[in-house]
Amino acid sequence: MKNVALAAMASTVGASLSSCANAVKKINVEEKTKMPNLIYVFPDQFRRQSLGFLNEDPVITPNLNKFASESLVLTDCVSCYPLCSPYRAMLLTGKYPAQNKVLTNCHSRRYKFHNELQKSDRCISDVLHDNDYSLGYIGKWHLESPLPEKNTYGEYTWTPPDRRHGFDYWCSYGSTGHHFHTHYYINSKSEKDVTEISEWSPKFETDVATNYIKNTNGKYRKPNQPFALFLAYNPPHPNYKEVPEKYVKMYDGKNYKDLLVRPNLDPKGETSEKAKGWVKNYFAAVTGIDDQFGRILNCLKEQGLDKNTIVIFTSDHGDMMGSHNLRSKNVWYEESMGVPFIIRWPGHIKPGKDDLLINTPDIMPTLLAMMGLKNKIPKDVQGKDLAGAFLGKKINRPDSSFYFLIKEGKPDSGRRGLRTHRYTFVISKSKKKNKIFLYDNKKDPYQLENIADSKPELVKKLTEKLYKKLTEINDPWVKNS
Ligand code: CA
Repeated sequence: MKNVALAAMASTVGASLSSCANAVKKINVEEKTKMPNLIYVFPDQFRRQSLGFLNEDPVITPNLNKFASESLVLTDCVSCYPLCSPYRAMLLTGKYPAQNKVLTNCHSRRYKFHNELQKSDRCISDVLHDNDYSLGYIGKWHLESPLPEKNTYGEYTWTPPDRRHGFDYWCSYGSTGHHFHTHYYINSKSEKDVTEISEWSPKFETDVATNYIKNTNGKYRKPNQPFALFLAYNPPHPNYKEVPEKYVKMYDGKNYKDLLVRPNLDPKGETSEKAKGWVKNYFAAVTGIDDQFGRILNCLKEQGLDKNTIVIFTSDHGDMMGSHNLRSKNVWYEESMGVPFIIRWPGHIKPGKDDLLINTPDIMPTLLAMMGLKNKIPKDVQGKDLAGAFLGKKINRPDSSFYFLIKEGKPDSGRRGLRTHRYTFVISKSKKKNKIFLYDNKKDPYQLENIADSKPELVKKLTEKLYKKLTEINDPWVKNS
């Protein structure tokens, strides 16, 4: 009797073990099919200060406010090179400008320098594509140098399919300043077959993106594969005037004094004066982007994809909007470098705030690692995998982010700098004497005073740190100084 009982027990245990093995096998299969989707939304020139919940700019951003409450918000995130093409190239390649060859904005006159995304670079999209992901790119690309005779930053510039780096769904264009009449190259259509759209480009692109997410009849992507969608809205980038009236109306009754609230505007400055005429429309475009982003989030939820999708909202750089009497970007001030970085992945990333200093090239390896593809990160990637910081693990946290400005065709030229938790430090190379800029962002958050001359010891320390870090990434600027 005893033996029979034991035999029965052994058989039960065996069955349990076997069913356990099956369960593990099943989980593995399910995990594979449940690899997370990625939606990377990056409007152009959306400054960090224009996130309503930060209480800096008086903007209306209800969807971003709610999204942030469900997400991890990087409070100190900067764009290492606050300019369109260099940011985009660093994002996709995980490499710094001297290595990815995109030294400044793509433009016809830079064609001769091959100032464009290199076909030979292995981008995040190439890696995801080769690991069973469907890839979508919607909106502004700005990574081709147009032919010299075109004299353009990228209007009507086609990216041939063999230069799309794994993106198999494509609804994109080079560059444009027109938000109500935007042109797109769609999928396999030829260079001559341009689609012209007569509505606000973020509205159109959100329609396309929601169709991509819904994927009715498998028209947009392979239904059994996870997907990664990059959505590159152009607004709130100029032309500021081209924004739907319904969003401008939301700021009715507010004049420039209510809107331009930063103390670093120059009361006598010509550009600060001009910003009085731009700011309402800029904020209206911010609200419009918030509205369209809300549609993406709703669609994800309706489709039951919100839990297994990593969603990021960020930007390529900010907008000075008259601060320091400057417009646009490509300068070290927080209004230009500071970008939103809000990331949601339910059950994996704990909502909250983090002052992590991430460099733009870190984003690629960080995302790949987060998505289970750490061992697929290309060997020549320079960015660091900081996935642990997002997933609640202890990691070696960076103590600074880089700042770059480079002249066309001259990788060893221009400015370099560091943004630490406390300081913004910049060396601007000059034939005569280098100029140095240093701001104590803790004591002087609006960066009103350059304290470089009064802090020689600190300048020495930060210079050494900058050179050490630039040497680590093999930046030729170091040798030319
Ligand atoms: Ca841009």
